[in-house]
Amino acid sequence: MVERMVVVGGDAAGMSAASQARRLRDRDDLEIVAFERGHFTSYSACGIPYWVSGLVPERDQLVARDPATFRDKFDIDVRLRHEVTAIDLDRREVVARDLERGGEARTGFDTLVYATGATPIQPEWARGGVAGVFGMQTLDDGTALLDWLEREPRPRRAVVVGGGYIGVEMAEALLHHGLPVDLVEQADQPMSTVDPDMGELVAEAMRGTGIGIRAGLTVTGLDERDGRIAAVVTDEGPIPADVVVLGLGVRPNVALATAAGLPLGPSGAIRVDRRMRVPGADGVWAAGDCVESLHRVSGMPMHIPLGTHANKQGRVAGINIGGGYATFPGVIGTAVTKVCDLEVGRTGLRERDATAAGFEFVTVLAESTNRAGYYPGARPMTVKLIAERPSGRLLGAQIVGWSEAAKRIDALAVALWNNMTVDEMTALDLGYAPPYAPVWDPVLIAARKAVDALSHGGR
Ligand SMILES: Cc1cc2nc3c(=O)[nH]c(=O)nc-3n(C[C@H](O)[C@H](O)[C@H](O)COP(=O)(O)OP(=O)(O)OC[C@H]3O[C@@H](n4cnc5c(N)ncnc54)[C@H](O)[C@@H]3O)c2cc1C
Repeated sequence: MVERMVVVGGDAAGMSAASQARRLRDRDDLEIVAFERGHFTSYSACGIPYWVSGLVPERDQLVARDPATFRDKFDIDVRLRHEVTAIDLDRREVVARDLERGGEARTGFDTLVYATGATPIQPEWARGGVAGVFGMQTLDDGTALLDWLEREPRPRRAVVVGGGYIGVEMAEALLHHGLPVDLVEQADQPMSTVDPDMGELVAEAMRGTGIGIRAGLTVTGLDERDGRIAAVVTDEGPIPADVVVLGLGVRPNVALATAAGLPLGPSGAIRVDRRMRVPGADGVWAAGDCVESLHRVSGMPMHIPLGTHANKQGRVAGINIGGGYATFPGVIGTAVTKVCDLEVGRTGLRERDATAAGFEFVTVLAESTNRAGYYPGARPMTVKLIAERPSGRLLGAQIVGWSEAAKRIDALAVALWNNMTVDEMTALDLGYAPPYAPVWDPVLIAARKAVDALSHGGR
């Protein structure tokens, strides 16, 4: 008998699972139906800031595979503009609404993959649908923003609310449109994904690009004039704006899962085992921004919504559904971004995470350069390491600097993944030539400093 796999959510996690399962089982054995409420499948939300900025000319360049490709090459029945409104675990059916034609239909499943992603956080003041205010999660959001930027009367001042990586990337994108940009952040500085000392380097560089950093302000409302956004209202007064982008973070999209009785973990995201099965729900799998992952350093389940995890988790689910064996071993919190030419990388725990996890640790900052000091284009690079005391095991690392800074975090991520100590790291055989590094790479300098700090017992 042909089994049916139903996928809810047609982006990174869902379609990775679907394509992987198809590679292992053909259509006579497994029918695959994917429901996606939006207009696209397998699109890169990560690329939206670079498309909005104009660096990537066409929206469709961000679509890795469209429904026709899934149908023709993978025998996957993608139902676009279909929103799943309920999951009935007893009858093993989903209810899906056709958003174009109306009407609902039930579809039975043997295997269900829940891959609904995350939902942008929208405080009360952001819910009024004021013209000129945009969330930034889907390609439709990007289209709407670009349309607004190009329509008369053209916006003259932009405000981004939220200083996480999406806010920072969108601030840069708006700068490319020639707009003065203010970035409003409730915390004392943007980029709280790194420690405050490293975040200050990012804030300083952002100011240098012309982005106005309005930190420590709480947004309380939006002012409109003639049906358009006129200002973002904060506890310290209004900030004029003709276009506003919101980047206030996301929550796991678990509404349907909760209604169906699927278990949530302590982070509020769906609990899964290492093969991406949902415990206690036979034949139900979940992956991507809607699930929590084991943090390999703190040992805690965490919700870290990133495309890199969604793709891997979807692949793991698909291999297992296809009859193979795969596990997702957890995450260590590696992430990179940039604002204009400044690059930022992080992995592992920040100081506050290490404290919360109960570690004793030392921290060091190493100031160096991305290339040999004499080589043209040499620019500053700061590496921060957090190492457990007294073992010396690396717990976390952050890098801020100019070219070649961000992806250096990968060497540190590999060290962290493999539980290396900073002492072992001092001997790492990293590449050296003047165009790429000083003879002592900034990573090695930082490791040596950490060894010194540990030997002095200091912090
Ligand atoms: C602007 C931006 C920049 C980013 N940059 C990066 C980056 O540089 N690096 C990185 O690792 N990550 C980045 N991310 C995060 C990354 O895009 C997400 O982690 C990734 O898309 C998650 O994939 P997913 O499949 O779990 O969820 P999603 O991509 O959110 O896909 C879920 C899909 O499910 C659909 N859906 C939801 N509910 C239903 C329903 N009831 N019925 C039918 N369909 C439904 C949604 O329409 C959506 O298409 C970025 C995100 C954004 C928004």
